[in-house]
Amino acid sequence: MKNNKKYSLGGGISSLIFAHYNPDFTIVTPEIGGLLKTTSLNLTWMHRNEYTEDLVKKLKIPYSFTKTRIGYYYNGYVHDTLSPEIQFEIVKRKMTDCITGKVAGKLPESINLSVSENYINTINVDFKIIFDKLVDECKDRIILDHVDTIKKNQILLGSCDKLEYDELVSSIPAPIFWKLYGQKREFETIPVTFVSTWDRPFIYNERYAMIYTAEDYLFNRLSKRESLEYTYEFTGEIPETEIKKYLPNVKINTLSINKMGRLIPVENKPPQENITFIGRFAEWLYDSKIQNVIKIAKKYGKRSK
Ligand SMILES: Cc1cc2nc3c(=O)[nH]c(=O)nc-3n(C[C@H](O)[C@H](O)[C@H](O)COP(=O)(O)OP(=O)(O)OC[C@H]3O[C@@H](n4cnc5c(N)ncnc54)[C@H](O)[C@@H]3O)c2cc1C
Repeated sequence: MKNNKKYSLGGGISSLIFAHYNPDFTIVTPEIGGLLKTTSLNLTWMHRNEYTEDLVKKLKIPYSFTKTRIGYYYNGYVHDTLSPEIQFEIVKRKMTDCITGKVAGKLPESINLSVSENYINTINVDFKIIFDKLVDECKDRIILDHVDTIKKNQILLGSCDKLEYDELVSSIPAPIFWKLYGQKREFETIPVTFVSTWDRPFIYNERYAMIYTAEDYLFNRLSKRESLEYTYEFTGEIPETEIKKYLPNVKINTLSINKMGRLIPVENKPPQENITFIGRFAEWLYDSKIQNVIKIAKKYGKRSK
């Protein structure tokens, strides 16, 4: 393996995409897949735009364009439209821990519901194919190890190996990055509990891929992807025993808790010019999606030419 002294830290979709556009980078990660291995994958949509189109075309994978419809549940049924008041209520419910009442960020200016329309233009694509292609492309430049310490020009690995670096790109979640860098920084989050089931939720309407609710339920969103299960999304950490009491007629397939489901925004700049953060959790930017990662990766590639 040639050593260009350029490393991309992390093995999730962000680091893989970065390495795709920047073939002189070597990935350093203890595992491959990151969040993509969790049930969050069922809830990840590829928004259609010039960046995501560029990626799927470059990877030469089958895809189609589609509209992902969003519904809003209030006054007893699912609507296509919503008033500013209902939108505020929905955003508030999405960003508030339903157990503790803690709110993530300022409301409602800082966070919207992804879009103000009742649909998102998306690219219908199998994430597993994207993932496999990216891994196959990068497989000869992956070091399977975790980063233990990040110094000014050197990273120390769990295996005790040392790697000198000129350029570093980190997709490692911000709280971990700063610890590895030797600085204590606080990054608050609100966890999100995902519950998947084959049982159709009582308020569901199959016209929609996701439904936000403004009514007083503990969950704030329901989603369904084609043949996949229904997923309830609760802002907050709720144990299975409580979910079973709350949804007594629902047979739970999986319950997963994402501790970083909602990030509470705080400024997070990389500590050195030769370090770049990429991806929602490294940048600590709630609005960062796959297209933002591609944008940074492409720009970086042009910069180094
Ligand atoms: C519920 C939910 C829904 C989402 N929906 C969408 C969506 O619809 N569309 C969209 O574009 N985005 C969506 N996102 C954002 C989405 O999470 C990202 O696009 C992407 O999945 C995050 O990937 P990542 O590679 O940035 O992070 P991760 O997948 O978390 O990867 C981080 C990597 O860092 C590695 N790591 C950790 N510690 C170390 C260490 N010490 N040394 C080396 N490596 C380390 C981990 O092993 C992991 O491989 C969603 C996020 C959530 C939580």
